[in-house]
Amino acid sequence: MPRFLVVMDILYFVWIFPMVGAVEEILMDSTTATAELGWTVYPAMGWEEVSGYDENMNTIRTYQVCNVFNNNQNNWVRTKYIRRRGAQRIHVEMKFSVRDCSSIPSVPGSCKETFNLYYYEADSDTANKGSPAWMENPWIKVDTIAADESFSQVDLGGRVMKINKEIRSFGPVSRQGFYLAFQDYGSCMSLIAVRVFYRKCPRVVQNGAAFPETLSGAESTSLVAARGVCVPNGEEVDVPIKLYCNGDGEWMVPIGRCMCKAGHEAVENGTACRACVSGFFKSSQGDHQCLQCPINSRTTNEGATNCVCRNGYYRTDSDPPQMPCTTIPSAPQSVISIVNETSLRLEWSAPRDGGGREDVVYNIICKSCGGGRGGCTRCGDNVQFVPRQLGLTESSVHISDLLAHTQYTFEIQAVNGVSDQSPYSPQYSSVNITTNQAAPSAVTIMHQVSRTPDSITLSWSQPDQPNGLILDYELQYYEKSMAEWNSSVVRSQTNTAVIRGLKPGVIYVFQVRARTVAGFGRFSGKMYFQTMTEEEYKSFFQEKLPLIIGSAAAGVVFIIAVVVFVIICKRRSFERPESEYTDKLQHYTSGHMSPGMKIYIDPFTYEDPNEAVREFAKEIDTSCVKIEQVIGAGEFGEVCSGNLRLPGKREILVAIKTLKAGYTERQRRDFLSEASIMGQFDHPNIIHLEGVVTKNAPVMIITEFMENGSLDSFLRQNDGQFTVIQLVGMLRGIAAGMKYLNDMNYVHRDLAARNILVNSNLVCKVSDFGLSRFLEDDTSDPTYTSALGGKIPIRWTAPEAIQYRKFTSSSDGWSYGIVMWEVMSYGERPYWDMSNQDVINAIEQDYRLPPPMDCPSALHQLMLDCWQKDRNNRPKFSQIVNNLDKMIRNPNSLKAMTPLSSSVHLPLLDRSTPDFSSFTTVDEWLDAIKMGQYKENFANEDFTSFDVVSQMTMEDILRVGVTLVGHQKKILNSVQSMRAQMNQITSVEV
Ligand code: AMP
Repeated sequence: MPRFLVVMDILYFVWIFPMVGAVEEILMDSTTATAELGWTVYPAMGWEEVSGYDENMNTIRTYQVCNVFNNNQNNWVRTKYIRRRGAQRIHVEMKFSVRDCSSIPSVPGSCKETFNLYYYEADSDTANKGSPAWMENPWIKVDTIAADESFSQVDLGGRVMKINKEIRSFGPVSRQGFYLAFQDYGSCMSLIAVRVFYRKCPRVVQNGAAFPETLSGAESTSLVAARGVCVPNGEEVDVPIKLYCNGDGEWMVPIGRCMCKAGHEAVENGTACRACVSGFFKSSQGDHQCLQCPINSRTTNEGATNCVCRNGYYRTDSDPPQMPCTTIPSAPQSVISIVNETSLRLEWSAPRDGGGREDVVYNIICKSCGGGRGGCTRCGDNVQFVPRQLGLTESSVHISDLLAHTQYTFEIQAVNGVSDQSPYSPQYSSVNITTNQAAPSAVTIMHQVSRTPDSITLSWSQPDQPNGLILDYELQYYEKSMAEWNSSVVRSQTNTAVIRGLKPGVIYVFQVRARTVAGFGRFSGKMYFQTMTEEEYKSFFQEKLPLIIGSAAAGVVFIIAVVVFVIICKRRSFERPESEYTDKLQHYTSGHMSPGMKIYIDPFTYEDPNEAVREFAKEIDTSCVKIEQVIGAGEFGEVCSGNLRLPGKREILVAIKTLKAGYTERQRRDFLSEASIMGQFDHPNIIHLEGVVTKNAPVMIITEFMENGSLDSFLRQNDGQFTVIQLVGMLRGIAAGMKYLNDMNYVHRDLAARNILVNSNLVCKVSDFGLSRFLEDDTSDPTYTSALGGKIPIRWTAPEAIQYRKFTSSSDGWSYGIVMWEVMSYGERPYWDMSNQDVINAIEQDYRLPPPMDCPSALHQLMLDCWQKDRNNRPKFSQIVNNLDKMIRNPNSLKAMTPLSSSVHLPLLDRSTPDFSSFTTVDEWLDAIKMGQYKENFANEDFTSFDVVSQMTMEDILRVGVTLVGHQKKILNSVQSMRAQMNQITSVEV
C-alpha cells in the first residue's frame, strides 16, 4: 500500500489564520498529540494510524486509507470523546490529501476521491467498538468532503502533492460531548490533521465600552447580545451600549456608545478616558479633546471641567467656558457737555479698555452740588434722562428738568457684563456743569378752599421745578361762557388767593402761573370752579349757625359775638362760611410770609375735609401694615408699633395711631385732620407721615417710628445721663422743626416736651398736630385747662394766648422756652406743683422759672428771652437755631453757670432744691428731691438726720452708692442748699 505517498505532503501545509476578531477555542487538535491518537477504526483493515512530521519537524499522527483496488469499501475512523465545553456550534477543520483516481494505473471504476464526516452526541464517553453502529443514523452526517486538489503522481521531491483544507460546522450541540467519524468508501487519502473548535467573540473595548468575551450562537446566523460597560470616566450616551456576537465569533451591530465625561478626553484609540492635564479643561461629555485654558484663567487641579478666572477677571453666566475671562471697563473718555437752560446733553467716547468685552453700557449718576452745605447730594427722581439713565448703549444722553442756577456733577460710569461681580465700583468720568436761568415749571394742582356767591378761594401747589425763588403767582380767570380775552388777572405772593367780585352760581375758568426773576412759567391747565348760588349760600348759613352757637358755649359774650357775626354776615363783605374750628386755627393768608413759600393749608377750610386727607395723605393698603404691639394711648384709640411694607420698598418700623371702633363721623374727621396737617410737612425735625388707612377698619394714621417715645418721659428715665452738648443738640432739633413750621405759617399751640418724639439717634421731632384736645367737651386731661373758646395747656402757653387767644409763632416761642426748661431739668414739671392760677399770677408779676440745676446761664438767658412779656421781643425760631448753633460750635459758652439776675425777669424761687424745714425726715426730703431710691443707702450709712446730711461731701455721696453723675450733682446741690438754709436759720436765731 503506497502509504508513504501521502505522508510526504504533511510537511508542506500552510495554516491559514482564523478570521480577524474571532477567537477559536480548541476542543481537540490531532497535531498536538504526543502519542498515538488511538482512534477507533472499523473494520480493522480500513483506516490506519501513521506517524509523520509537520513543517517544523514535529511528529504528528495521521490516518490513511487506500483500498482503491477493492470494491465496496466502507471504512470508518472515530475520534475519541470530545467535551463540548459550553459551545453550541462546533467547527471541524480537516487537512487531507486525496490521490487522483485517474492517476492510479488500472484502478477500478469504484475508486473515490471523497469521504464523509459524521458526528454523534453523547453525555459521556460510552462508545465502544460496535456502538454506536457504523452507519448514518445513529451518526449524523455533516457533509461529504471532496478535495479541491488531488495529487496524481508520486514525486519524492514532494512538490506536486497538494493538501486540502476544509472546514465544516454543525450545531446546535447540547449534550456534554460528541464523537466525530470519517467514512471512506474507496478513496486513497490521508487525514493529516483534524482540529475541532468553537468560536467566541473576544473581550473588546469598542465605542468607549468594554465587552466581555461572549460565545457565539448555535447557528451561523445567530447573534448573541452583550452589554458593554463604559471605560472609567466614560459615560453612556442616550441608549445602553450593546454589541452582538455572530456565529463566526465576530462583533457586529454596535448600539449606543460611551464618551469621556467632562474633564476627561479619549486616549489610546478611544479605549480610555484620561483626566485633562493642568492648564487644560473639557467642559462637557464628548469625543473632543481637552482645550487649553482661555486667557486670564487657570485650572486648580487635573481633570478640570472649566478654568477659573484669575483675580480681577470674571465671566458672566452666559459666557462660554472657552471665552477668555474679562474685567471691568476703564472710564468713558472725552466727555462733552452742552448746557441749555435747565437741560443738558452729554456725549462721550467709549472707554479705552472695554475689559475684553463687547457689552459695555453706561450709567449716569447725577449729583446736585448747590445745596449750600458744601457737599453734593443725589438728584431727585424728577430729573429726566432720554433715552434713559441706566444701561445706555449709546454714548450720549439728554438730561432735562434740572434746577436753574444749580451746580451739578454728572458721573458717566462704564459698566459691562462683569461689573457687578467686581468688588470695585465702576470707573467713571465726571463733568461739572452749572445750569442757567429758567422760568418755573407749570403749577399742576389747583383746588378750591372755599367759596361764596361772589368769591372763590383757591390754593395750588408750588411748581415742581421753581427754578429759583418764586416772586409771585399770576392767576388768570374768566367766565366759562365768555371768550378768553375777557380774562381778569390777580397776583398773589402766596400759593393761595381769594378772587372776589364774582357772579353767583357762575362757572369760572382759572389758570395760574409762577414768576421768578427768569420770568413767568407756563400757565397751569384750565380748571373750572363755580361760585355758590344765593340759595345755596342761605341754606348753608342756616345749617351752620346752630353749630357755631353751640361750640361757643353759653355766655353773653358769645351771644354778642354771634349777633355781631350775624350782622357781619348780612353784609356782602363777609368772605366765606367759616369752619366751626376757625377761631381755634391759624390764619394762613397773612401777607408777611416770604414770597413763593409753600404755606400750610388748614384742612378745616375744605368744604369736604376728606378731600384734604386725600390731597395731603397717601392712602395705604391695609395689607401692607402689620401691627406688632400697643405702645401708648392716643386721643382716639391705641397707638401701636408695627411694620410697613410698601410695594417695591423695604419694610420699615412705623407707629400706628388707630381710631377706636364706634367713632362718630366728626371724630373720624378730627382724627384724620392730624394726618392732613402732618402730610403737608417735610422736615427732619417734624414727625413724618407715611400715610393713612381710611378704606378699611380700623382707620389708621401711620408715621415713622420713634424708638425712644416722647421726650418728657425719655428724659425722666435718663435723669442726668446726657452731656450739656447732647441736650443742646436736642433743643436745636426742636427749634429747627419749629422754624420750619413757622415758615409754613403753621402755629403749633401745644409745643411741650410730651409732644416731642425722640428716635434711637436722639433726634427730636415735633409731633402732635391734632386739634381735638383743645375742644371743650374733653375734660379728661388736666394739662389742658378750659379757657375761653377751648382748652389751653396753661404752663406752656404765653400770657397773651391765655388771655385773649393770641396764638402766633411768638406764643410758640414762649412754649419753646418752657420746653428748654423741661429738657434742662430732665423732665421736671414746669412750675412744679403750683396751681394753674398761681402760675398765671406769677407770670403776670414777671416771675419766671429759675435755671434748672447745672443749666448753663446762656441757655437760661435764652429761656428768659422766650418768656418776654412783649411777644415782639421774643427771639424768632431762626434766631434760636442760630443761637444754639453758636453754643454748639463754642462749648465754652456753656460753661458759665452763675444765675443771671435780670432787672426785667425775676426768677421764681428755685424749687429744685426745696426748703428742708418743711420735712420731718431725711426720707421725706429725698422723696421731695426725687431721689427716693437712695433712702436705704442713706439709712445704711447712718445719714438719717438733717444735721449729718447737711455735712455730706461728694465722697459721702459716693460712699452711700450714688453712681450716676446727674444724681450725685442733684443730691450735692440739695445738701448745699440745706446747709445754706440751716446757716440762715441759725443766724436768725442768733
Ligand atoms: P399721641 O396721641 O400722639 O400723643 O401718642 C401717644 C403716645 O404714643 C405718645 O406719647 C408716644 O409715647 C407714642 N407715640 C406716638 N407716636 C409715636 C411714634 N411715631 N413713635 C413712637 N411712639 C409714638
